[in-house]
Amino acid sequence: MNGRRPILVANWKMYKTAAEAVDFLDRFLPRVAGVAEVEVAIAPPFTALDRAGRRLAGSAVALAAQNASAETEGAFTGEVAPRMLAELGCRYAIVGHSERRALFGEGDALVARKAAALLAAGIRPIVCVGETLEQREAGRTFEVLAAQVAGSLASVPPERAAELVLAYEPVWAIGTGRTATPEIAQEAHRFLRERLAGLFGAAAGQVRLQYGGSVKPENVYALLAQPDIDGALVGGASLDAEAFARIVRSRGPEEAR
Ligand code: PEP
Repeated sequence: MNGRRPILVANWKMYKTAAEAVDFLDRFLPRVAGVAEVEVAIAPPFTALDRAGRRLAGSAVALAAQNASAETEGAFTGEVAPRMLAELGCRYAIVGHSERRALFGEGDALVARKAAALLAAGIRPIVCVGETLEQREAGRTFEVLAAQVAGSLASVPPERAAELVLAYEPVWAIGTGRTATPEIAQEAHRFLRERLAGLFGAAAGQVRLQYGGSVKPENVYALLAQPDIDGALVGGASLDAEAFARIVRSRGPEEAR
């Protein structure tokens, strides 16, 4: 036992209105009642955070945001500050997702500022890293991961490391149906754990490392069985209440699988 409680997070991206989010939770929450082995969080779009948070109140499932500003407040049209997310009850926020890096030009320095701003507001950052197919095929996977970890976590002090979740999401596996094998994922996670040890020392052992990329009910168990994989960040399969409940329960009571 390494003491790290696995964490499964649903990243809904730009799917589901507030009403659809509540409808999902009405079907999802009864299906995962009593599951204590894993921590579960739902990251709906900003517009659904308030109603989803109210529906989650009293359940063991946490609320997460998909992004956050690095600023506290000010003239930043369209942005949402960490303290606004904290007020809605967000326990986690995803930063540095590959879609934000690729489509919105976010780099490691900004991701690091966002992570620091979230911690200052009492929200745990889920920091995403991962190589593209081109980078993997060029043999640059570990070089890319090392640079992303060093840059994106530059502002996290070792005493806050235990609050951090680091998500390894190979870009070639996101939304493609092409999951990394458990062995490939574990190799990357072990490398990331070593880099964390360089940054945080012994506290690296407390950081939870999630795998993300086409996780499904059929493949989650083998991935989470790896020694350095402490959870999953789930996109497409988390949009369906039954499928995400099966993913959550794959670590839960035997009879539910
Ligand atoms: C994601 O967007 O974080 C993700 C892992 O997506 P998918 O599960 O659809 O590959």
